[in-house]
Amino acid sequence: MRTIDDFNFEQKKALIRVDFNVPLDKEFNVTDTNRIEAAKPSIMKVLEDGGSAVLMSHLGRPKGQRNADMSLKHICGKVSDIIGVQVKFVDDCVGPDAERAVAELQEGEVLLLENLRFYSEETTGDVAFAEQLSKLGDVYINDAFGTAHRAHASTTVVAQFFTDQKCFGYLLAKEIKSIGKVMQTGEKPVLAILGGAKVSSKITIIENILDKVDHLIIGGGMTYTFVKAQGGQVGNSICEDDKMDLAMKILAQAKEKDVQVHIPVDVVAADDFSNDAQTQVVDVDKIPEGWQGLDAGPRTLENFKEVILKSKTILWNGPIGVFEMKNFANGTISVGNYIDEATRNGAFSLVGGGDSVAAVKQFGFQNKVSYVSTGGGAMLESLEGKTLPGIAAISEG
Ligand code: AMP
Repeated sequence: MRTIDDFNFEQKKALIRVDFNVPLDKEFNVTDTNRIEAAKPSIMKVLEDGGSAVLMSHLGRPKGQRNADMSLKHICGKVSDIIGVQVKFVDDCVGPDAERAVAELQEGEVLLLENLRFYSEETTGDVAFAEQLSKLGDVYINDAFGTAHRAHASTTVVAQFFTDQKCFGYLLAKEIKSIGKVMQTGEKPVLAILGGAKVSSKITIIENILDKVDHLIIGGGMTYTFVKAQGGQVGNSICEDDKMDLAMKILAQAKEKDVQVHIPVDVVAADDFSNDAQTQVVDVDKIPEGWQGLDAGPRTLENFKEVILKSKTILWNGPIGVFEMKNFANGTISVGNYIDEATRNGAFSLVGGGDSVAAVKQFGFQNKVSYVSTGGGAMLESLEGKTLPGIAAISEG
């Protein structure tokens, strides 16, 4: 894997695909600077080597049209503050103005290009557009994991114009390494904790992951499809009746592959999908009619704790209960705490994909796990075993 550390950028112009798709308020202030901070190490490496950096990103979904509200010029000041260099801005991402701005760039300087998605050619992966982008740097660095699963011009197609002058930035390299630690080289026992609402959205992950793990914890709304498939009564709990056969197939496959599956044995059931609902703890297979399971129960959490604490590699995707409601957040918080403890005891823990990151941030676990993935969809596709085009474009060729 060729990373930024394999290059010296002295007198080189680095064209860096970053993910500056940050949230803005009504006055166009950046309300969450995480993604900008995450891109800083790669930018600094280029500058410290004596090179210059040309940054390209998308912001929002302008759908191929210029849109002043989604101009990257709004974030220029914030990027300057964070990296400590006055960032220049050019209001195009290809063409003569962009090329002139790049030509004028001196070593130690940073140029931010206008929003890539003002051109529909970006998302269609247009080769001619990618070739125009490629004129804006001597070396191409991809540091945007969040878009690595898209075969867009700036994330994938552009790489073909750099032969061997291309690499992963620090952020992307770390994502690839962390996922590799779980999917290929994880120390045993390897545990995957999969929660979230539906079996249907996680099925490909489950099928792929059965070959990599020793233990599988199933939590969240997915639980009830598995329980009903085995003859349990799940009351009004979320359940995909058409996925019950699939659930049984997964359990059979797991057995064949010697994967131990841990499903909740008790749940916090509620008489309404509401934080103010009446609740009772019941066995997972005896949920009364009119009640629905919204969180894991105490015996379940004891079981999960035991498995988590003996695991050396832990992947967590998807909440254990309806964590957005305070009264049903305990399962998700407890699992986060057990993973924290396992990590302090030396386990490697990776959290990512969809809502798990929201839960991790909401409860402050981001510094307690080994790694929080920044790419929702990209992370999910990696776990499904897919090769991400943005990664392949750099690895191959
Ligand atoms: P996902 O995007 O598939 O990871 O699903 C996340 C959502 O699943 C969150 O919004 C949770 O509130 C929801 N969820 C977790 N457990 C349950 C449950 N027992 N019943 C209904 N929804 C749930």
